Amino acid sequence: MHDATDKHPIETDALVIGAGPAGLFQVFQLGLQGIRCHVVDALPHVGGQCAQLYGDKPIYDIPGIPVCTGHELVGMLQRQIAPMEARLHLSQQVARLLRLDDGRWQAETTEGLRLHARSVFIAAGVGAFVPKALKVPGVESLLPGQLHYHPASLEMARGKTVIVHGGDEEAVAAALAAADLAQTTCLLHRRDAFQASPLLLERLRALRDSGAIHVVIGQITQLQSDAGRLRAVQWMDGEGLEHELAAQQLVVCLGISPRLGPVAEWGLAMERKQLQVDPATLATDAPGIYAVGDIVTYPGKRKLILCGFHEATMAAFAAAEYLQGEKPLLQYTTTSARLHAILGVSHPDT
Ligand code: FAD
Repeated sequence: MHDATDKHPIETDALVIGAGPAGLFQVFQLGLQGIRCHVVDALPHVGGQCAQLYGDKPIYDIPGIPVCTGHELVGMLQRQIAPMEARLHLSQQVARLLRLDDGRWQAETTEGLRLHARSVFIAAGVGAFVPKALKVPGVESLLPGQLHYHPASLEMARGKTVIVHGGDEEAVAAALAAADLAQTTCLLHRRDAFQASPLLLERLRALRDSGAIHVVIGQITQLQSDAGRLRAVQWMDGEGLEHELAAQQLVVCLGISPRLGPVAEWGLAMERKQLQVDPATLATDAPGIYAVGDIVTYPGKRKLILCGFHEATMAAFAAAEYLQGEKPLLQYTTTSARLHAILGVSHPDT
């Protein structure tokens, strides 16, 4: 991880905000122009909507690929951009974007990362994907490290009394992972019906039968803590009766939803929650800031992956002129020795 304290912000020619398909292809197109970049995404993984909303579903309208799933497309994009060596900063939102006196842009993330970028590419789609928050009394008085939203690891459950709250695939997977480590594991959901793959549901059934996972059907009403240390979760059953469950760690998986959030606060021209851009350059109304993909609007805009790819290409050409001071030449990846060098491929004919 970078040291991005006040003294040492990351200096970069380009910052890409959003690692959905448009942001990933932006990295590729910038790379072909010889521009290296940093990428920030709110999710703990790349792929945006393709990975988050329909990873296992088929896509049929990517040129040259008759069919692939969301995950497969993201995997291929990752392979394609590997030579560009972009630095990824995941699980954090770009919260602020400010113009510096020298014309560069300063971005600040929710994790305290600061970047100074000569150009910025907003590929924020329908907004940052952030976990739905648990909104009950007592949440605000907890010390950090006891309430976890969609954690990547369940290591904090080791030897503890753990409650997993939620009913989807991630909640079930978290409860199964916690059961291997925790002293006691409870899966708390409002209905006795869980949405997960047959394999995970089968494992849940087995652990429920053996008593390794205790399933509780109800709604959380309050968290109880002593001096900021989580002690218990108060919950209500279907008949309106209140109960208490001891807990040291609470894992909340209530789903992830997109929030346009900060993008709307950066002072850029917008129309119906989308950034207005010039379709020839994908430039916004701020110098050095471009926007591509679902976040943009212009006459005839279509929210399709294919259109995001085209926009990323146009934006990279425009940014190359902005950053390098001259119009870049059009070169083909088939025949250009310069592009082969960037891509790390050798070709006997060039
Ligand atoms: P997104 O995929 O939305 O990615 C944006 C990323 O930016 C997200 O990861 C988000 O977390 C991140 N982000 C936003 N704000 C911030 C911030 N401030 N800081 C950090 N990160 C931020 N299109 C097709 O062409 N063909 C299809 O078959 C197709 N099927 C679809 C099926 C479904 C169910 C859905 C929902 C969409 C489908 N689409 C399809 C549309 C397609 O997924 C979108 O057009 C595409 O994902 C847009 O890409 P994007 O990169 O612009 O945005």
